[in-house]
Amino acid sequence: MKYELETIPIWDTYEEDHECPLCILEQKAEQGYIDFYLGSSVMNPETRVEVNKKGFCPGHFSRLFASRKNRHGLGLISHTHMKARAASLEGIEKRLIARSRFGRGESLKKMAIDYSRLLASGNTSCMICDRLDYTLKRYTFTILYLWKKDDQGFRRKYSESKGFCTCHLPGILAMAPDVLSGSTYADWIKATVENQQKSMERLEKEIFWYTQKFDYQNNDKPWGTSKDALNRVIQKLTGIIQRDE
Ligand SMILES: [Zn+2]
Ligand SMILES: [Zn+2]
Repeated sequence: MKYELETIPIWDTYEEDHECPLCILEQKAEQGYIDFYLGSSVMNPETRVEVNKKGFCPGHFSRLFASRKNRHGLGLISHTHMKARAASLEGIEKRLIARSRFGRGESLKKMAIDYSRLLASGNTSCMICDRLDYTLKRYTFTILYLWKKDDQGFRRKYSESKGFCTCHLPGILAMAPDVLSGSTYADWIKATVENQQKSMERLEKEIFWYTQKFDYQNNDKPWGTSKDALNRVIQKLTGIIQRDE
């Protein structure tokens, strides 16, 4: 699959100092989608139909609520989505009740499992997750493309960066063979893995010094780059940017 290029956000992100460009891009895109679904455009019929069908996963529904914006709009989309959800479950619920009159049996159990699967699939379907997934693939594709062309010295910028978090690295590794071939692919693997190794070693030292700073004997010693090492280690391991309140 070919994705449209989005070079400006990639360059902007590589100008910043961070543990993973995709964490930053994902967070920005996610905030954009949260704002979108709480904005006025969500009232257009096309979006309403999609929201009714897919809804949001538990995490994103909570984020929409936690933003405290546009309670009326969120109430309206929650109402019609709930109605659609109830309608999609109605058939199997009727059959389950009817079957339960015949007592406990294998077919009743099987039907209950189908019911539970249908519920679970509704809980994981999410408009924001779907759009984020696509956007992230576009960004991933663009990083690989810029590397391939070595556009405006992108390779150097890439090698000077701190690599990726352990959650976004698998995505770019999975896409790379579709974008890069032959020795370009081999060179990219070398550059990426070397950089990743270096990055993990550095971060391990930074978090070690972070833990040492709790020893009173180290009170007066400088933090160096370790002050936010815990935030960055957790980001590196989870793909989620950690901010102090
Ligand atoms: Zn990341
Ligand atoms: Zn979601």
